[in-house]
Amino acid sequence: MTVRVTFIGSGNAFADGGRSHACIHVSAPGVSLLLDCGGSALPAIKREIDPEAIDAIAISHLHGDHFGGIPYLVIEQHFAGRTAPLAIAGPRALVQRLRAAESALYPDFFRKTKLAFRVEETVLGANEVELGGALVSALPVKHVAESDPHGLRVRVGDKLVAYSGDAIWSEELARVAHGADIFICDASFFDTDDPSHISYRTLMSHRAELECKRIVLTHLGAETLARIGELELEHAVDGTTVEV
Ligand SMILES: [Zn+2]
Repeated sequence: MTVRVTFIGSGNAFADGGRSHACIHVSAPGVSLLLDCGGSALPAIKREIDPEAIDAIAISHLHGDHFGGIPYLVIEQHFAGRTAPLAIAGPRALVQRLRAAESALYPDFFRKTKLAFRVEETVLGANEVELGGALVSALPVKHVAESDPHGLRVRVGDKLVAYSGDAIWSEELARVAHGADIFICDASFFDTDDPSHISYRTLMSHRAELECKRIVLTHLGAETLARIGELELEHAVDGTTVEV
């Protein structure tokens, strides 16, 4: 089974380098889901794939650059005539936060409109659930606690795609990556020890503890972009597709 991973958005919250917010498309025959759908994801999605092909969205944590694009995608799909259901899964408070985002951004639309398609919302946890044709689980990681941060593990056939979301180093992060064919990891900083994000240097110092075949860096901030030539790991740009 070959799994395609497309980095639709590979930027940080500040869109450093002009990159779009976090949004990663995982696809294989019968499988199509997004990992995160940040605020600026919709135009980036439209550059790479047909939004109607997205069956599900798994959200790592409740920061706008990771889930803020969902209301725009839902409205766009309504007017595009979508009829297939859209599954959305993530942290416990995701549903509540989506309702708040919808009523802040488009109260007129969301109050009055019966969507042309069904939206199925579920909470992700340590037990795998079927989502967009894959089996998806979420493990807690260390980031801003109020955002209920999780790393995601996506099983497609015999392949495992793991994603840090936003995180600092912890043993939990190693558990997210454990056994992955590809581990997609936050690289907001190059060598600054930020309280919320792992740096490339720290990640490299723990490389031996990460039992995964391949690492691709994403969520690149200005500091990492300025030293991109020094990276000894693969990194994504918007539009990068890798096959696993
Ligand atoms: Zn975050």
